[in-house]
Amino acid sequence: MSKQKTALITGAASGIGLAISQHLAKQGYKVWVSDVNLESAQKVAIQIKGQALALDVTQQEHIDAAVASIELADGRLDVLVNNAGIQHVAPLEDFPVDKWRLVNDVLLVGPAMLTRGFLPMMRSNNYGRIVNISSINAQKGQFGQSNYSAAKAGIHGFTKALAQEVAAKGVTVNTVSPGYVMTPMVAKIAPEVLAKIAAGIPVGRLGEPEEIGKAVAYLASKDCGYVTGSDFSINGGQHMS
Ligand code: NAD
Repeated sequence: MSKQKTALITGAASGIGLAISQHLAKQGYKVWVSDVNLESAQKVAIQIKGQALALDVTQQEHIDAAVASIELADGRLDVLVNNAGIQHVAPLEDFPVDKWRLVNDVLLVGPAMLTRGFLPMMRSNNYGRIVNISSINAQKGQFGQSNYSAAKAGIHGFTKALAQEVAAKGVTVNTVSPGYVMTPMVAKIAPEVLAKIAAGIPVGRLGEPEEIGKAVAYLASKDCGYVTGSDFSINGGQHMS
């Protein structure tokens, strides 16, 4: 088994996943930089001296291959961050059913199946840190995001149930729920809409990806063994639950 701590981040080529990868690499982890976009993942892997991995979380054969590669190369996975995400914004009555299923597969089914794949390794090593990226919009809802909000709320229910199943084996499972964070996903929102959003956030600005990266690194740390089934809201005070 490798002596170095290892972490797998999904959707690691951009935005929040990139920041998490950079932060964990700085902390000495070997980072498996996984993304559906292999070319971008490879650029990040070179930058942080990690290992790129083609992984579309909606494809079970990609999941099986990722588990087999990491088992063979390292024999351990200390940290799994289910971060990959997409959005399709539309009122429910206009929401195409194929889009609904795709978003749900990326945000909920994929993370569950990927986690399932890595649990035997974590159990046998008596150690694991699983961090699932949820969203403020799971907590408060958002017009046009019935699908996204449902999937992101689902991942929190998944987290709480799984946390109970694996706690005795040294594996913790938590969610981080970011508010609006300046990433390519959010950059698609019109500037005037973003300005209105920022004005409604008590700290008066959007979050930075690094702020999420640091929180994930805390939940992923060995010191954080007594935190499980929890949600860490990072939203500038936009929603307090
Ligand atoms: P982003 O668009 O910058 O990055 C998402 C990454 O996921 C991309 O690299 C993309 O290639 C990858 N991806 C998409 N589909 C995939 C798939 N099927 N398999 C593997 N990778 C896939 O987005 P971001 O803003 O960095 O979002 C990261 C996570 O944080 C997402 O889960 C998102 O829902 C969540 N989130 C973001 C914000 C925000 O304000 N940016 C707020 C709350 C939650």
